Amino acid sequence: MSTRSVMYSVIVPMYNEEEVITTTFERLTEVMKQTKESYELIFVNDGSKDDSAAIITELATIHDEVILIDFSRNFGHQIAITAGMDYANGQAIIIIDADLQDPPEVMLMMIEKWKQGYEVVYGKRIKRKGETWFKKTTAKLFYRLLRMMTNVEVPTDTGDFRLIDRKVCDVLKGLKEKNRFVRGLISWVGFKQASVEFIREERFAGVTKYPLKRMVSFALDAITSFSYKPLRIATYVGFAISFFSFIYLLVVVYQRIFTDSTEAGWASIIALNLLFNGIILILLGVIGEYIGRIYDESKNRPLYIVREVVSQENTTPSTGNRNMERRESDE
Ligand code: UDP
Ligand code: MG
Repeated sequence: MSTRSVMYSVIVPMYNEEEVITTTFERLTEVMKQTKESYELIFVNDGSKDDSAAIITELATIHDEVILIDFSRNFGHQIAITAGMDYANGQAIIIIDADLQDPPEVMLMMIEKWKQGYEVVYGKRIKRKGETWFKKTTAKLFYRLLRMMTNVEVPTDTGDFRLIDRKVCDVLKGLKEKNRFVRGLISWVGFKQASVEFIREERFAGVTKYPLKRMVSFALDAITSFSYKPLRIATYVGFAISFFSFIYLLVVVYQRIFTDSTEAGWASIIALNLLFNGIILILLGVIGEYIGRIYDESKNRPLYIVREVVSQENTTPSTGNRNMERRESDE
Protein backbone atom coordinates (compact mmCIF):
# COMPACT_ATOMS: atom_id res chain seq x y z
CA MET A 1 0.00 0.00 0.00
CA SER A 2 1.02 3.53 -0.50
CA THR A 3 2.92 5.45 2.13
CA ARG A 4 1.72 8.84 1.05
CA SER A 5 -1.16 10.61 2.57
CA VAL A 6 -1.94 13.79 0.73
CA MET A 7 -4.93 15.99 0.16
CA TYR A 8 -4.54 16.55 -3.58
CA SER A 9 -3.12 14.56 -6.48
CA VAL A 10 -2.49 16.36 -9.74
CA ILE A 11 -2.16 14.07 -12.76
CA VAL A 12 -0.23 15.37 -15.75
CA PRO A 13 -0.06 13.12 -18.83
CA MET A 14 2.84 14.09 -21.07
CA TYR A 15 4.04 13.07 -24.48
CA ASN A 16 7.02 14.96 -25.89
CA GLU A 17 6.48 18.02 -23.74
CA GLU A 18 10.10 18.94 -22.90
CA GLU A 19 9.56 22.53 -24.02
CA VAL A 20 6.79 23.21 -21.53
CA ILE A 21 7.13 20.78 -18.70
CA THR A 22 9.42 22.85 -16.48
CA THR A 23 7.10 25.84 -16.73
CA THR A 24 4.14 23.56 -16.11
CA PHE A 25 5.79 22.29 -12.94
CA GLU A 26 6.42 25.85 -11.77
CA ARG A 27 2.87 27.03 -12.48
CA LEU A 28 1.35 23.96 -10.79
CA THR A 29 3.56 24.44 -7.76
CA GLU A 30 2.68 28.11 -7.51
CA VAL A 31 -1.03 27.31 -7.55
CA MET A 32 -0.98 24.25 -5.31
CA LYS A 33 1.07 26.10 -2.66
CA GLN A 34 -1.86 28.49 -2.31
CA THR A 35 -4.07 25.68 -1.02
CA LYS A 36 -1.78 25.42 2.02
CA GLU A 37 -2.50 21.71 2.00
CA SER A 38 -0.45 18.69 1.02
CA TYR A 39 -0.31 17.59 -2.59
CA GLU A 40 1.55 15.41 -5.06
CA LEU A 41 2.27 16.00 -8.73
CA ILE A 42 2.08 12.80 -10.75
CA PHE A 43 3.67 13.12 -14.17
CA VAL A 44 2.88 10.21 -16.45
CA ASN A 45 5.42 9.98 -19.22
CA ASP A 46 3.57 8.37 -22.10
CA GLY A 47 6.60 7.14 -24.02
CA SER A 48 8.04 10.53 -24.90
CA LYS A 49 10.95 10.45 -27.30
CA ASP A 50 12.41 13.69 -25.93
CA ASP A 51 13.77 14.74 -22.54
CA SER A 52 10.43 15.01 -20.73
CA ALA A 53 11.16 12.04 -18.47
CA ALA A 54 14.69 13.20 -17.68
CA ILE A 55 13.42 16.64 -16.69
CA ILE A 56 10.85 15.17 -14.30
CA THR A 57 13.35 12.66 -12.87
CA GLU A 58 15.58 15.61 -12.05
CA LEU A 59 12.69 17.46 -10.39
CA ALA A 60 11.72 14.36 -8.42
CA THR A 61 15.14 14.22 -6.78
CA ILE A 62 14.72 17.78 -5.50
CA HIS A 63 11.00 17.93 -4.74
CA ASP A 64 9.41 15.13 -2.79
CA GLU A 65 5.92 15.91 -4.08
CA VAL A 66 6.93 14.99 -7.62
CA ILE A 67 6.35 11.47 -8.93
CA LEU A 68 7.23 10.20 -12.37
CA ILE A 69 5.46 7.21 -13.85
CA ASP A 70 7.46 6.26 -16.88
CA PHE A 71 5.68 4.08 -19.46
CA SER A 72 7.66 1.60 -21.51
CA ARG A 73 6.17 3.10 -24.69
CA ASN A 74 3.38 5.37 -25.89
CA PHE A 75 0.04 4.00 -24.69
CA GLY A 76 -2.11 7.06 -25.34
CA HIS A 77 -3.45 10.02 -23.43
CA GLN A 78 -6.49 8.28 -21.93
CA ILE A 79 -4.42 5.40 -20.59
CA ALA A 80 -1.85 7.80 -19.15
CA ILE A 81 -4.65 9.45 -17.18
CA THR A 82 -5.84 6.04 -16.00
CA ALA A 83 -2.35 5.15 -14.76
CA GLY A 84 -2.22 8.46 -12.90
CA MET A 85 -5.43 7.53 -11.10
CA ASP A 86 -4.01 4.13 -10.15
CA TYR A 87 -1.08 5.82 -8.41
CA ALA A 88 -2.92 8.80 -6.95
CA ASN A 89 -3.19 9.01 -3.17
CA GLY A 90 -5.07 12.27 -2.77
CA GLN A 91 -8.53 12.86 -1.41
CA ALA A 92 -9.22 14.89 -4.53
CA ILE A 93 -7.61 14.11 -7.87
CA ILE A 94 -7.14 16.71 -10.60
CA ILE A 95 -6.33 15.85 -14.21
CA ILE A 96 -4.64 18.58 -16.24
CA ASP A 97 -2.86 18.71 -19.61
CA ALA A 98 0.88 19.27 -19.66
CA ASP A 99 0.79 22.03 -22.26
CA LEU A 100 -0.78 24.72 -20.02
CA GLN A 101 -3.87 24.93 -22.23
CA ASP A 102 -5.83 24.29 -19.05
CA PRO A 103 -4.93 27.22 -16.78
CA PRO A 104 -3.66 25.83 -13.44
CA GLU A 105 -5.37 28.67 -11.54
CA VAL A 106 -8.72 27.07 -12.38
CA MET A 107 -7.77 24.17 -10.11
CA LEU A 108 -8.40 26.44 -7.13
CA MET A 109 -11.96 27.02 -8.29
CA MET A 110 -12.40 23.28 -8.70
CA ILE A 111 -11.12 22.67 -5.19
CA GLU A 112 -13.58 25.24 -3.87
CA LYS A 113 -16.50 23.38 -5.50
CA TRP A 114 -15.18 20.09 -4.17
CA LYS A 115 -15.18 21.55 -0.67
CA GLN A 116 -18.82 22.47 -1.20
CA GLY A 117 -19.52 18.77 -1.63
CA TYR A 118 -19.31 18.13 -5.38
CA GLU A 119 -17.64 14.87 -6.31
CA VAL A 120 -16.86 15.65 -9.95
CA VAL A 121 -15.94 19.16 -11.04
CA TYR A 122 -15.23 19.51 -14.74
CA GLY A 123 -13.75 22.46 -16.56
CA LYS A 124 -16.00 23.90 -19.23
CA ARG A 125 -14.17 25.89 -21.88
CA ILE A 126 -16.17 28.95 -22.81
CA LYS A 127 -13.56 29.96 -25.37
CA ARG A 128 -10.68 28.23 -27.10
CA LYS A 129 -7.70 30.34 -27.95
CA GLY A 130 -5.19 29.65 -30.66
CA GLU A 131 -6.85 26.54 -31.99
CA THR A 132 -7.58 26.12 -35.64
CA TRP A 133 -11.02 26.45 -37.13
CA PHE A 134 -10.70 22.79 -38.08
CA LYS A 135 -10.04 21.64 -34.52
CA LYS A 136 -12.93 23.64 -33.11
CA THR A 137 -15.37 22.46 -35.76
CA THR A 138 -14.42 18.81 -35.49
CA ALA A 139 -14.63 19.03 -31.70
CA LYS A 140 -18.11 20.51 -31.94
CA LEU A 141 -19.22 17.84 -34.44
CA PHE A 142 -17.77 15.16 -32.20
CA TYR A 143 -19.81 16.23 -29.18
CA ARG A 144 -22.97 16.44 -31.31
CA LEU A 145 -22.41 12.99 -32.72
CA LEU A 146 -21.62 11.59 -29.29
CA ARG A 147 -24.90 12.94 -27.96
CA MET A 148 -26.83 11.50 -30.88
CA MET A 149 -25.20 8.11 -30.71
CA THR A 150 -24.97 7.41 -27.00
CA ASN A 151 -27.04 7.75 -23.88
CA VAL A 152 -24.21 9.09 -21.77
CA GLU A 153 -24.40 12.78 -21.11
CA VAL A 154 -20.88 13.99 -21.72
CA PRO A 155 -21.13 17.74 -21.13
CA THR A 156 -20.24 19.69 -24.28
CA ASP A 157 -17.02 21.66 -24.42
CA THR A 158 -15.27 19.77 -21.67
CA GLY A 159 -11.98 18.00 -21.96
CA ASP A 160 -10.27 15.84 -19.41
CA PHE A 161 -9.44 18.84 -17.23
CA ARG A 162 -11.41 18.00 -14.09
CA LEU A 163 -11.34 17.20 -10.41
CA ILE A 164 -12.68 13.94 -9.06
CA ASP A 165 -13.23 12.84 -5.51
CA ARG A 166 -11.42 9.84 -4.02
CA LYS A 167 -14.68 7.85 -4.19
CA VAL A 168 -15.06 8.48 -7.92
CA CYS A 169 -11.43 7.58 -8.53
CA ASP A 170 -11.87 4.27 -6.71
CA VAL A 171 -14.91 3.41 -8.81
CA LEU A 172 -13.08 4.28 -12.04
CA LYS A 173 -10.17 2.08 -11.07
CA GLY A 174 -12.57 -0.82 -10.97
CA LEU A 175 -13.58 -0.33 -14.61
CA LYS A 176 -11.23 -2.48 -16.58
CA GLU A 177 -12.22 -1.76 -20.15
CA LYS A 178 -9.39 -1.29 -22.58
CA ASN A 179 -10.81 1.27 -24.99
CA ARG A 180 -11.00 4.05 -22.49
CA PHE A 181 -12.83 7.26 -23.01
CA VAL A 182 -12.23 8.68 -19.56
CA ARG A 183 -14.63 11.62 -19.64
CA GLY A 184 -17.42 9.28 -20.79
CA LEU A 185 -16.67 6.91 -17.94
CA ILE A 186 -16.72 9.78 -15.47
CA SER A 187 -20.17 10.84 -16.70
CA TRP A 188 -21.31 7.24 -16.62
CA VAL A 189 -20.44 6.68 -12.95
CA GLY A 190 -22.65 9.59 -11.91
CA PHE A 191 -22.07 11.29 -8.51
CA LYS A 192 -22.65 14.95 -7.76
CA GLN A 193 -21.23 16.94 -10.65
CA ALA A 194 -20.53 20.63 -11.10
CA SER A 195 -18.62 22.72 -13.61
CA VAL A 196 -16.32 25.71 -13.58
CA GLU A 197 -15.87 27.83 -16.68
CA PHE A 198 -12.54 28.79 -18.14
CA ILE A 199 -10.90 30.08 -21.27
CA ARG A 200 -8.74 27.48 -22.96
CA GLU A 201 -5.34 28.98 -23.60
CA GLU A 202 -3.03 28.47 -26.49
CA ARG A 203 -0.48 25.75 -26.21
CA PHE A 204 2.48 27.21 -24.31
CA ALA A 205 4.95 25.50 -26.67
CA GLY A 206 5.20 22.49 -28.91
CA VAL A 207 2.50 21.12 -31.20
CA THR A 208 -0.69 19.17 -30.65
CA LYS A 209 -0.26 15.43 -30.18
CA TYR A 210 -3.72 14.78 -31.56
CA PRO A 211 -3.45 14.77 -35.35
CA LEU A 212 -6.56 13.93 -37.39
CA LYS A 213 -5.87 10.20 -37.39
CA ARG A 214 -5.81 10.09 -33.60
CA MET A 215 -8.90 12.28 -33.36
CA VAL A 216 -10.85 9.83 -35.52
CA SER A 217 -9.78 6.83 -33.48
CA PHE A 218 -10.58 8.73 -30.27
CA ALA A 219 -14.09 9.46 -31.57
CA LEU A 220 -14.64 5.82 -32.58
CA ASP A 221 -13.56 4.66 -29.12
CA ALA A 222 -15.85 7.16 -27.50
CA ILE A 223 -18.91 6.15 -29.46
CA THR A 224 -18.44 2.41 -29.60
CA SER A 225 -17.65 2.13 -25.91
CA PHE A 226 -20.94 3.73 -24.96
CA SER A 227 -23.41 2.68 -27.60
CA TYR A 228 -24.73 -0.10 -29.77
CA LYS A 229 -26.50 2.39 -31.99
CA PRO A 230 -24.07 2.08 -34.92
CA LEU A 231 -24.76 -1.66 -34.94
CA ARG A 232 -28.47 -1.04 -34.74
CA ILE A 233 -28.37 1.52 -37.54
CA ALA A 234 -26.53 -1.09 -39.60
CA THR A 235 -29.41 -3.48 -39.01
CA TYR A 236 -32.06 -0.90 -39.92
CA VAL A 237 -30.24 0.08 -43.08
CA GLY A 238 -29.93 -3.59 -43.97
CA PHE A 239 -33.69 -4.11 -43.55
CA ALA A 240 -34.62 -1.01 -45.51
CA ILE A 241 -32.38 -1.99 -48.38
CA SER A 242 -33.71 -5.55 -48.45
CA PHE A 243 -37.25 -4.22 -48.58
CA PHE A 244 -36.60 -1.95 -51.56
CA SER A 245 -34.55 -4.62 -53.30
CA PHE A 246 -37.49 -6.99 -52.98
CA ILE A 247 -39.85 -4.47 -54.56
CA TYR A 248 -37.40 -3.87 -57.35
CA LEU A 249 -37.10 -7.62 -57.82
CA LEU A 250 -40.85 -7.81 -58.39
CA VAL A 251 -40.56 -5.06 -61.00
CA VAL A 252 -37.75 -6.91 -62.74
CA VAL A 253 -39.68 -10.18 -62.78
CA TYR A 254 -42.71 -8.38 -64.14
CA GLN A 255 -40.66 -6.77 -66.90
CA ARG A 256 -39.03 -10.08 -67.83
CA ILE A 257 -42.32 -11.89 -68.15
CA PHE A 258 -44.68 -9.27 -69.53
CA THR A 259 -42.48 -6.93 -71.54
CA ASP A 260 -39.47 -7.28 -73.82
CA SER A 261 -37.39 -4.40 -72.46
CA THR A 262 -35.07 -6.44 -70.23
CA GLU A 263 -31.65 -6.11 -71.78
CA ALA A 264 -31.86 -2.35 -71.41
CA GLY A 265 -31.19 -2.90 -67.70
CA TRP A 266 -27.41 -3.21 -67.77
CA ALA A 267 -26.75 0.25 -66.36
CA SER A 268 -29.11 -0.13 -63.46
CA ILE A 269 -27.64 -3.50 -62.53
CA ILE A 270 -24.16 -2.07 -62.38
CA ALA A 271 -25.36 0.94 -60.43
CA LEU A 272 -27.25 -1.13 -57.87
CA ASN A 273 -24.32 -3.50 -57.55
CA LEU A 274 -21.95 -0.70 -56.72
CA LEU A 275 -24.37 0.89 -54.32
CA PHE A 276 -25.12 -2.28 -52.39
CA ASN A 277 -21.54 -3.43 -52.29
CA GLY A 278 -20.66 -0.10 -50.78
CA ILE A 279 -23.33 -0.31 -48.16
CA ILE A 280 -22.48 -3.90 -47.26
CA LEU A 281 -18.85 -2.97 -46.77
CA ILE A 282 -19.82 -0.08 -44.50
CA LEU A 283 -22.03 -2.33 -42.40
CA LEU A 284 -19.32 -4.95 -42.15
CA GLY A 285 -16.97 -2.21 -41.06
CA VAL A 286 -19.31 -1.17 -38.25
CA ILE A 287 -19.57 -4.74 -37.04
CA GLY A 288 -15.83 -5.10 -37.32
CA GLU A 289 -15.29 -2.07 -35.08
CA TYR A 290 -17.16 -3.82 -32.30
CA ILE A 291 -15.59 -7.21 -32.88
CA GLY A 292 -12.19 -5.57 -32.73
CA ARG A 293 -13.05 -4.13 -29.36
CA ILE A 294 -14.33 -7.45 -28.07
CA TYR A 295 -11.01 -8.91 -29.17
CA ASP A 296 -9.14 -6.21 -27.26
CA GLU A 297 -11.08 -6.95 -24.11
CA SER A 298 -10.69 -10.70 -24.40
CA LYS A 299 -6.90 -10.60 -24.67
CA ASN A 300 -6.88 -9.22 -21.16
CA ARG A 301 -3.49 -7.60 -21.48
CA PRO A 302 -2.50 -4.94 -18.96
CA LEU A 303 -3.63 -1.45 -19.91
CA TYR A 304 -0.11 -0.13 -19.67
CA ILE A 305 3.41 -1.16 -18.76
CA VAL A 306 5.50 0.90 -16.39
CA ARG A 307 9.24 1.00 -16.95
CA GLU A 308 9.90 2.67 -13.62
CA VAL A 309 8.44 4.88 -10.98
CA VAL A 310 10.66 7.69 -9.75
CA SER A 311 9.83 9.27 -6.45
CA GLN A 312 11.41 9.87 -3.08
CA GLU A 313 8.86 7.75 -1.32
CA ASN A 314 7.86 4.19 -1.68
CA THR A 315 5.12 4.55 -4.23
CA THR A 316 3.04 1.59 -5.20
CA PRO A 317 -0.11 1.65 -7.24
CA SER A 318 -3.24 1.19 -5.22
CA THR A 319 -4.39 -1.27 -7.87
CA GLY A 320 -1.48 -3.57 -8.38
CA ASN A 321 -2.32 -5.96 -11.17
CA ARG A 322 -1.87 -3.63 -14.11
CA ASN A 323 1.83 -3.17 -13.70
CA MET A 324 4.44 -5.51 -14.94
CA GLU A 325 7.33 -4.08 -13.02
CA ARG A 326 8.36 -1.09 -11.06
CA ARG A 327 11.46 0.25 -9.45
CA GLU A 328 12.05 3.08 -7.06
CA SER A 329 14.88 5.51 -7.59
CA ASP A 330 17.75 5.29 -5.16
CA GLU A 331 17.53 8.70 -3.59
N1 UDP B 1 -0.68 13.17 -24.49
C1 UDP B 1 -0.28 11.93 -23.98
N2 UDP B 1 -0.15 10.88 -24.84
C2 UDP B 1 -0.43 10.99 -26.18
C3 UDP B 1 -0.88 12.24 -26.67
C4 UDP B 1 -0.99 13.31 -25.80
O1 UDP B 1 -0.04 11.79 -22.79
O2 UDP B 1 -0.28 9.99 -26.88
C5 UDP B 1 -0.81 14.31 -23.56
C6 UDP B 1 -0.12 15.59 -24.01
O3 UDP B 1 1.22 15.63 -23.59
C7 UDP B 1 -0.96 16.66 -23.32
C8 UDP B 1 -2.35 16.05 -23.31
O4 UDP B 1 -2.17 14.64 -23.50
O5 UDP B 1 -0.56 16.85 -21.98
C9 UDP B 1 -3.23 16.62 -24.40
O6 UDP B 1 -2.61 16.50 -25.67
P1 UDP B 1 -2.53 17.71 -26.70
O7 UDP B 1 -2.29 19.00 -26.00
O8 UDP B 1 -1.55 17.34 -27.75
O9 UDP B 1 -4.01 17.66 -27.30
P2 UDP B 1 -4.93 18.92 -27.70
O10 UDP B 1 -4.88 19.89 -26.57
O11 UDP B 1 -4.33 19.46 -28.94
O12 UDP B 1 -6.28 18.30 -27.90
MG1 MG C 1 -3.24 20.68 -25.76
